[in-house]
Amino acid sequence: MDAYSVSFTSASQRNFSRIWTDLKSCRQYIVGAGFSGLRCTDILLQHGFEVTLIEGRNRLGGRVHQSKLPSGHKVEDTAGPNWIHGTNDNPILDLANETKTATGQWEERSSVFDEAGKQVPASDAILYSTIMWDVVGAAFAYSNKHSATISPDESLWDFFKKEVPKRIPDTEENFERKRNFVYQLADQWGAFVGSHVFTQSLKFFWLEECIDGENLFVADTYEKILQLVAKPAMEGAKIKYETIVNKIQSTNDEGGTLKVHTEGGESLEFDEVVLTAPLGWLKRHTDAFEPALPSRLSKAIQSIGYGCLEKAYISFPKAFWTLDRSEDNRIEGFCQMLAPDYAADRNPKKWNQEFVELASLKSSAHPTMLYYFYGDQSKFITGELAKLPSKEKKDEFLYDWFKPYYSRLPNYDEKSPDCQPNGCYATEWLNDELAGNGSYSNFQVGLEEGDADIKAMRDGLPNRGLWLAGEHTAPFVALGTATGAYWSGESVGKRIAQAYFRGEGGVMTLG
Ligand SMILES: Cc1cc2nc3c(=O)[nH]c(=O)nc-3n(C[C@H](O)[C@H](O)[C@H](O)COP(=O)(O)OP(=O)(O)OC[C@H]3O[C@@H](n4cnc5c(N)ncnc54)[C@H](O)[C@@H]3O)c2cc1C
Repeated sequence: MDAYSVSFTSASQRNFSRIWTDLKSCRQYIVGAGFSGLRCTDILLQHGFEVTLIEGRNRLGGRVHQSKLPSGHKVEDTAGPNWIHGTNDNPILDLANETKTATGQWEERSSVFDEAGKQVPASDAILYSTIMWDVVGAAFAYSNKHSATISPDESLWDFFKKEVPKRIPDTEENFERKRNFVYQLADQWGAFVGSHVFTQSLKFFWLEECIDGENLFVADTYEKILQLVAKPAMEGAKIKYETIVNKIQSTNDEGGTLKVHTEGGESLEFDEVVLTAPLGWLKRHTDAFEPALPSRLSKAIQSIGYGCLEKAYISFPKAFWTLDRSEDNRIEGFCQMLAPDYAADRNPKKWNQEFVELASLKSSAHPTMLYYFYGDQSKFITGELAKLPSKEKKDEFLYDWFKPYYSRLPNYDEKSPDCQPNGCYATEWLNDELAGNGSYSNFQVGLEEGDADIKAMRDGLPNRGLWLAGEHTAPFVALGTATGAYWSGESVGKRIAQAYFRGEGGVMTLG
């Protein structure tokens, strides 16, 4: 993990008054009951504080959310995270183990379909995917080493344009076709961060590096993990559901209480406020703070990107694509359909399609395809879904949109009942204001001070009693993840305890 640093800049009047405060009279208020807010609540409760958790929705978990797939299969769909990113010292993996949540992995292989919708021979898919991931690895190394001198305008895509010709020289037969293949494989980067590869900052690409170890697919969903993370808050905090905050007022810069205003017209007073609203929400609501946020913090909020990864699950009576397990017809792991020439009516922009199939999971296997989409395609699909009046109409749209792709899977037979989808569900995070109208933070071209921006958000405004937590304030190796959100809440909880002289070892850190 990087040096997960935050700084108290001065021994303010607020800090001195915190020392003498009786914890019973100290009111802590946390906005948002996602992983960061729930973990922060847990830490504060452990230190004897009284905590009120205010949540805009009628449920806990925020972007960690399950929703039932209406297909007859007892499958729960995960609208937010499916993966645990990194297995080395990852608290979410510990929680998965404690709750006996099944996790899985696919064999490290890729199935790729070409522009005509024909499955590419496995040997080619593996060869060119290996080149693609090799360039990604080189880009991480380059970004780590040269971040200071890389232009903010350089993208990961620019790096691909330089590096692929070195790996597939002009002397190779069909070199242009082969390079083009790798360039198209690079599009799948979008499904990791929620934005296109050509907008990925190369200068701050290193901030996308994850915790070491494996990426595990959470086959059982995050539900039991969420229950465990939420338990202390459910048992020990006061929770106000369906309460949306629209203004946070500090009485002055150095002390006094904070007033929190809600859409329902309430005005609540607190000594400390931890705001875990997503970065996308902060971007749209910089006017929610009085006095205005300092310019450095406002700049940080506007500079860090916010992606729009979305997902659609399409279920079938049987996993017809697994009937033929021959090497070249095997669909397993992360799969990609390159810019389709065969879906011109629905997809004239030829957005490529990424998916995983869930039938070959060892635990909780089900006959479902999980499609990931991002960037312009997310905007288009969620825009269309928002216009449709009913679940039936939305399902019709989704079946129609994805049919060109699932009908290219091995053993598809238009007339077979096994190949007719019988349930679907798509996320609409872009239409969800409480999710910040997007998925999670990322790093886009034009970014000049990415690491300093994250630190500015992490620092928050403790002298005003206003703290920020959430995946956008996480340690660098866990930005944008459930683990990062959990760590960020833990860190703010400990910092508040320290400020009240209740930190570990009873030491107050001011400098
Ligand atoms: C499609 C998708 C896929 C993902 N995949 C993965 C993955 O595979 N692995 C992984 O580790 N992470 C993944 N993530 C990221 C992960 O879900 C988030 O990083 C994490 O859940 C964020 O937690 P949080 O506490 O920071 O924010 P949130 O969970 O968003 O919590 C914030 C809470 O604040 C509430 N709120 C917001 N505004 C207000 C307001 N004004 N008033 C009151 N309440 C408010 C919200 O309702 C919400 O409950 C994914 C996210 C998405 C969207």
